[in-house]
Amino acid sequence: MAEAATTVHSPAVTYLSMVSLLTLCPPFVVLLWYTMVHADGSVLHTWDYLRLNGFQGFLSIFPRPSLIACQIIAAFAVFEAALQLLLPGKTVKGPISPAGNQPVYKANGMAAYFITLITYIGLWWFGIFNPTIVYDHLGEIYSALIIGSFVFCILLYIKGHLAPSSTDSGSSGNIIIDFYWGMELYPRIGKHFDIKVFTNCRFGMMSWAVLSVTYCIKQYEQNGKVSDSMLVNTLLMLIYVTKFFWWEAGYWNTMDIAHDRAGFYICWGCLVWVPSVYTSPGMYLVSHPVNLGSQLALSIFFAGILCIYINYDCDRQRQEFRRTNGKCLVWGKAPSKITASYTTTSGETKNSLLLTSGWWGLARHFHYVPEILGAFFWTVPGLFTHFLPYFYVIFLTILLFDRAKRDDDRCKTKYGKYWKTYCDKVPYRIIPGIY
Ligand code: NDP
Repeated sequence: MAEAATTVHSPAVTYLSMVSLLTLCPPFVVLLWYTMVHADGSVLHTWDYLRLNGFQGFLSIFPRPSLIACQIIAAFAVFEAALQLLLPGKTVKGPISPAGNQPVYKANGMAAYFITLITYIGLWWFGIFNPTIVYDHLGEIYSALIIGSFVFCILLYIKGHLAPSSTDSGSSGNIIIDFYWGMELYPRIGKHFDIKVFTNCRFGMMSWAVLSVTYCIKQYEQNGKVSDSMLVNTLLMLIYVTKFFWWEAGYWNTMDIAHDRAGFYICWGCLVWVPSVYTSPGMYLVSHPVNLGSQLALSIFFAGILCIYINYDCDRQRQEFRRTNGKCLVWGKAPSKITASYTTTSGETKNSLLLTSGWWGLARHFHYVPEILGAFFWTVPGLFTHFLPYFYVIFLTILLFDRAKRDDDRCKTKYGKYWKTYCDKVPYRIIPGIY
């Protein structure tokens, strides 16, 4: 079977979802921030405000990108880009691309992560920079990110046309599809600066950790203490992001990097959606501290850790299995597997191993279950007074169910009869026995 294009969607669904996401996501980010910070976390308050004040009202709450917001973003982006370029790290090869290329990366994410957090907390500790400034200018930061990232995606589109970094690039012939899904799989500046590693990992995921710490410090400075709900939320989100950087080289084998091209969908998503929507349960808790009591707080905390661990172990199991060419133990036994062959776009025939035991024998995307539950556990410390903090969990559930379908479609096209054998052996897509 020929390797499929980087993304597989029916044209009508693709077009509709692209246009709606392009137009709806930016105002949603602003309304989310406004509701969390200025409308007591209540969707009804915001709705009443918009009903009374209409579009003019929306425009008046839309924060303008300020100089300080641009300075904060620029300082963070330059710092992260410098760490990405300058810190030493092991050379790691990514998976072979559809055009037969094998990108090479420098694995220095964990060092960059610790240096970033230590620097940020150190700046606060020694009174050099107070993170509450970030929280107080959050609206302006989001609007600057919305506009700046849009311009960034236009530049990516132009680069994809004029100066692609590799043969894993090309146009679909439709300007909106090219802008939305991207032109290049591995765009780089020079030979070494990988743009998707920057947008997805060093800006997007790093901003998640930095903002989690910011919310915690803001609550501390505002109330003179940090509530146990905020502590559980911050610690779980930080453990999740730490796990991400611990495993960053593994992330370079996943769909985001190996299959999704650098366009609005992935880059704007990581530059704007991650710092806003992904961090929103913590943003909510800043002015909604809840005292859970140590027993409930610890129960939620350990349930969250368990989910993050299982999600990590699923990814680890698949990657260890592929790395050792199936010569490893899975849950203490030799793994059961399928050897699936496929053809690259350049006509070469290659083999991949599909693991059919362990977590990967429960369902074809079982790892999404602990991912969603983990997000639930870092949201639930806010309890159930408002709906909006749960937006991320709901969004993530929809995203991952769609992603599982996209991945199945792609693998079906790539592996043909071998994928069918896998589906016969492991019939459930995400939830064993149910779906
Ligand atoms: P993965 O890349 O981990 O898995 C999908 C790929 O793995 C497939 O495309 C296929 O690639 C290969 N594969 C599929 N089945 C098997 C098998 N049985 N044995 C071996 N290889 C197989 O998926 P994701 O990128 O979706 O997830 C990676 C991590 O990121 C997960 O932890 C997930 O929860 C997390 N995630 C988080 C999101 C968030 O927003 N918080 C969003 C998306 C993911 P190949 O072509 O190589 O065969």
